[in-house]
Amino acid sequence: KRLILVGPPGSGKGTQSPIIKDEYCLCHLATGDMLRAAVAAKTPLGVKAKEAMDKGELVSDSLVVGIINEALNKPSCHKGFILDGFPRTVVQAEKLDEMLEKRGIKVDKVLNFAIDDAILEERITGRWIHPVSGRSYHTKFAPPKVPGVDDVTGEPLIQRKDDTAAVLKSRLEAFHRQTEPVIDYYGKKSILTNLHAEKPPQEVKAEVQKALL
Ligand code: ADP
Ligand code: ADP
Ligand code: ADP
Repeated sequence: KRLILVGPPGSGKGTQSPIIKDEYCLCHLATGDMLRAAVAAKTPLGVKAKEAMDKGELVSDSLVVGIINEALNKPSCHKGFILDGFPRTVVQAEKLDEMLEKRGIKVDKVLNFAIDDAILEERITGRWIHPVSGRSYHTKFAPPKVPGVDDVTGEPLIQRKDDTAAVLKSRLEAFHRQTEPVIDYYGKKSILTNLHAEKPPQEVKAEVQKALL
């Protein structure tokens, strides 16, 4: 299967991804995780991306399209993939279509994590992540077994620099202005499923599974 997850920051894309990934043996491509790794490693890509990310703005289309184009060449992604956080602009969606066409494949389904903005601040400000794996926890909704520590590796959890109420505002503006048109783009292609992303994780998971039957 070839899937796209789209939704505002904190809508639960990263929480549902591992579940889908394990169930269908797909490769998980999260542009946010890849960009954060590049920033941490201070690679040329990371240096270029950092300023926009810190402000809650989108990184340039050419940078993220380049990352995805490279990732799609990995043998582990040939059977199927989950794109988490890409495409976020109509230009990215069009470039993706071109990249897939060249490879003779197409997207099977787009899952839209539909949710009201009002819920997202509490989700974002309570989020703690394990930076290496991208696993996310929440102080109230999904606490780790030991506070501040990853359940799987025992390594420390961190809060993302952009997970503040102030930066969330810019990220939501970017979502409404630049990413919502992407949802219409896939709606017209009739491969879109809307999820009730405000529900508890188990219920969202059930909706995802139903959509993928
Ligand atoms: P969230 O999990 O909150 O939805 P991400 O981890 O996906 O956020 O993205 C974090 C930041 O990385 C974004 O605010 C943006 O600056 C950058 N980014 C990630 N994916 C893209 C993309 N497809 N296009 C442009 N910028 C992106
Ligand atoms: P995204 O990847 O879309 O930015 P995450 O999956 O990282 O979002 O979720 C954001 C925060 O909200 C995390 O701390 C996560 O544990 C929590 N969360 C995810 N899904 C739900 C849910 N359905 N109900 C409550 N909290 C959730
Ligand atoms: P199960 O009963 O199948 O083990 P869980 O309720 O433990 O399911 O949840 C499955 C996944 O969702 C786990 O990875 C867990 O960390 C995560 N999770 C559970 N509750 C939340 C929540 N409120 N917010 C975000 N993630 C959650």
